[in-house]
Amino acid sequence: MKSIRYALRIFSLACFVAISQQALAINIFTCEPEWHALATEIAGSEANVYVATSANQDPHHVQARPSLISAVRRADLVFCTGGGLESGWLPVLLSKGSNPKVQRAPGLLLAAEQVALLEKPVLLDRAEGDIHASGNPHVHLDPRRILIIAEKLKDRLIEIDAKDANGYQKRFDAFHQRWQKNIQHWEQQAAPLRNTPVIVHHRSWSYLLDWLGIRQVGELEPKPGIPPTPAHLASLISTTQTEHAQLILFTRYNGDKAAKWLTQRSDACAVELPFTVGGDDDSASLDELFSRLIDALVTTQTNCKKSGAHD
Ligand SMILES: [Zn+2]
Repeated sequence: MKSIRYALRIFSLACFVAISQQALAINIFTCEPEWHALATEIAGSEANVYVATSANQDPHHVQARPSLISAVRRADLVFCTGGGLESGWLPVLLSKGSNPKVQRAPGLLLAAEQVALLEKPVLLDRAEGDIHASGNPHVHLDPRRILIIAEKLKDRLIEIDAKDANGYQKRFDAFHQRWQKNIQHWEQQAAPLRNTPVIVHHRSWSYLLDWLGIRQVGELEPKPGIPPTPAHLASLISTTQTEHAQLILFTRYNGDKAAKWLTQRSDACAVELPFTVGGDDDSASLDELFSRLIDALVTTQTNCKKSGAHD
């Protein structure tokens, strides 16, 4: 009887410790899977990291569901892309979540504000499409920018949650070391892709292409966010010929219709790529995502040349 009582006391003590740890653990709300992966890496397994979207959802278009609002309400840090990517839904979450901690820095961290943006218009010009009006927000596909963002994230975590400063620093240092090696390795692996002319469905890949020296010569969307039209697609037939485009890049939520249409009328080969962590079975982590992207591009390029045909 005594031992049962003792066991019960130990059990309730363990529950109390577990609950207080839960209460003390930092709550991070992330908008996209890439930031969920990065936050988990730097904040560690004790942190509660919530992700608002899944890999095969277009982050430009997301519904501000009540479950997302209540997750923002609980957050100590909101970590999203920014740069206009979530302009249709993040402001709603922040306003309806009415959590004073995450309205601005340090509790609000926007990745696109930490790095230099590509395709930034000299003047704000919506003629280039509404959804990239202030530059290209898809910064997560450049691992060098990810490193800069990871460091800012580490600084913010230390500012918000100083008691675990050593842990954040340690995990960032380990990530930094591993990531630099990764970048070197990926750049070697991607060397055959340098100067390859490609067509993209949406300007999703600009940072990846810029990093690897791949040339974008056309896009299936007439303007960012405007679906491909028959007239625009027809004009790309001659672009693929004159520019010798080899690959057409798209992701699952773009659909393969437009890419396939063009491969049937040109020498280019279509390649479906994961856009973020979890985009396919081989992209379960940030490291795997970049390996997978480069592998898919190199393999498709090689096979496309070999067969001289296309699907
Ligand atoms: Zn976009």
